Amino acid sequence: MKRTKPTKMPPIRTSSSRTPLAFHLLVKPTGAVCNLDCKYCFFLSKEMLYPGSSFRMSDELLKTYIRELLDAQRMPEVSINWQGGEPTLMGLDFFQRSVDDVEKYKNPGQKVLYTIQTNGTKLDKDWVAFFKQHNFLVGLSIDGPKEFHDAYRVNKGGQGSFDQVLKAWKVLTQHGVEVNILSTVNAANADHPLEVYHFFRDELKAQYMQFIPIIERATPETLTLANQGWGERPGAERPLYTQIGELVTERSVKPEQFGRFLITIFDEWVQRDVGKVFVQSFDAALANWLGQPSLCIFQRTCGEALVLEHNGDLYSCDHFVEPDYLLGNIRKTHMLDLVSSDQQKKFGQDKFDTLPQFCRQCEVLFACYGECPRNRFIHTPDGEPGLNYLCSGYKLLFNHINHPMRIMAQLLRSGRYADEVMSILAKEEMHGVSDEI
Ligand code: SF4
Ligand code: SF4
Repeated sequence: MKRTKPTKMPPIRTSSSRTPLAFHLLVKPTGAVCNLDCKYCFFLSKEMLYPGSSFRMSDELLKTYIRELLDAQRMPEVSINWQGGEPTLMGLDFFQRSVDDVEKYKNPGQKVLYTIQTNGTKLDKDWVAFFKQHNFLVGLSIDGPKEFHDAYRVNKGGQGSFDQVLKAWKVLTQHGVEVNILSTVNAANADHPLEVYHFFRDELKAQYMQFIPIIERATPETLTLANQGWGERPGAERPLYTQIGELVTERSVKPEQFGRFLITIFDEWVQRDVGKVFVQSFDAALANWLGQPSLCIFQRTCGEALVLEHNGDLYSCDHFVEPDYLLGNIRKTHMLDLVSSDQQKKFGQDKFDTLPQFCRQCEVLFACYGECPRNRFIHTPDGEPGLNYLCSGYKLLFNHINHPMRIMAQLLRSGRYADEVMSILAKEEMHGVSDEI
């Protein structure tokens, strides 16, 4: 039996004395530009922050980024994480140059790990050979079987992208590239958790997957436009997405629906897939039950997952690429001074400091910590603002998984294997409560 592996969560790195102990940097070489037009992707509207831009990271900035990052790291492993928009629109030559720059600037003994998040539509054998050669971990966006995926993940002509993504999955896995599935949970697939999970596990034979809730905020004024999507509309009005408004679009998942989606998958996973299939939310929950570092959204504080735009602008987080959260530009200020700035420290500390009283008294605070501040836009039952939109879903989830999580945490603490939970739960089911651990 295998021990439960750690997740594909952002790697934690130790850095120089100027920086926090750990930070994770996503880089967007094409900004928000993408060849698809996924209806729920409000990142598309971020193009409007840079009017007239070419949205291509220059070679000079690429060198600055890589040199500063490699200089900064004191640990043997450094992670370079490409994200979009769609980063492959930069072309393979750009990534080849990035790898050449890494070879040129890395310190003796430094090992560089590469990740890329892609919609998969541009991948061909040359890309796949490159990923294999340099051990890229590829995050591939798939929302489940075709009917769910094509509901929102469409190209500029409105056609579904499923067939192209499936082709990418096949060629990547046939060539031994490690792939992590990123699936959103939205109005189209949220009531079909097992169809989604079984598709990934049984048809794709995927081992690593993560589920991200779609929550698109809107105000009464922007809701109608927001419901139409965030892509370009020649000659028509288009809203810029900001973290404002207490309404959500019709594509968004409902709080308890999201909780039930994860619970249904968890119940299947904990009976038969522990140690074989790795679901990021469950790994992160187990880390919290063990009192270990977890995903940023489930930690007490955050601020260690920043994002670098195509022009060198550094923002506090990928979900806060907004003028108020711009820390500076790495062409003018060393990245580490921005990462360790007071503004960024406050951003991270605010995650806990702004928690409403309702969360502070919550029985699952240790597992949830109010989740991500971007989703805290509803009121508590006693009228305090700042409660997470997903609260009722998370309460359901964390209370539901408490017992098996406690068993797994106890197993790991005693040097045993987390997947023993499956036989323990089976015995409990047959004979009542077990005292096996
Ligand atoms: S704002 Fe949310 S996504 Fe960003 S670092 Fe904090 S918890 Fe993570
Ligand atoms: S479950 Fe709800 S009340 Fe509890 S910490 Fe999370 S958001 Fe706050």
